[in-house]
Amino acid sequence: MNALETMILDKGLVLEGGILKVDMFLNHQIEPKLIMAMGRDFHEHFKDKPITKVLTVEASGIPIAMATALEFDVPVVFAKKGRHKNVGNDVYTSQVYSYTKGESYEINILKKYLTADDRVLFVDDFLANGAAAKGIIDIIGQAGASLLGIGIAIEKGFQDGGALLRGMGVDLYSLAIIDRMEPGKITLREHD
Ligand code: 5GP
Repeated sequence: MNALETMILDKGLVLEGGILKVDMFLNHQIEPKLIMAMGRDFHEHFKDKPITKVLTVEASGIPIAMATALEFDVPVVFAKKGRHKNVGNDVYTSQVYSYTKGESYEINILKKYLTADDRVLFVDDFLANGAAAKGIIDIIGQAGASLLGIGIAIEKGFQDGGALLRGMGVDLYSLAIIDRMEPGKITLREHD
């Protein structure tokens, strides 16, 4: 069992509606050693790929993307949520339905930070139905860049995102996969 899986079982809180609260180590308070280990783990899995950029979505994906990008020695670009005045109009845009908030939001990446030469690793904290990943794949397509892989901290295996992305032929690597959860009980998928 890796450090993230141990932390999920020790500290994760299952809320009603299929939401796992991990803000004591990942989403609000952040445990740096755990995040850095996650970056090394993603690097170990994807190291043979010529990644030029790690992409994520603000805010929770940023520390994990940083730790991963440090190992590859490439920049991180995070998609911004909503159209802020300081983002400008020269952006690639996609709509994402938020599973946790129950509403759609726009994600934007400035065109100058994602080009047709980029070979992207997308990293995020959770995979549920794959809406965020689909939005990022849409933006990568608009830029003419290529997606080489997706690294997820916590995949909720009982939702559709994993099957959707693997079915598209994406190299999807999740550090922890939750097969089932209910308040007080989390069942992780076994692996070697
Ligand atoms: P998806 O886009 O795959 O449907 O959902 C993934 C996104 O929703 C993640 O970026 C994450 O922010 C949020 N999310 C989905 N499920 C959970 C959950 O169980 N707990 C938390 N904290 N966030 C979640």
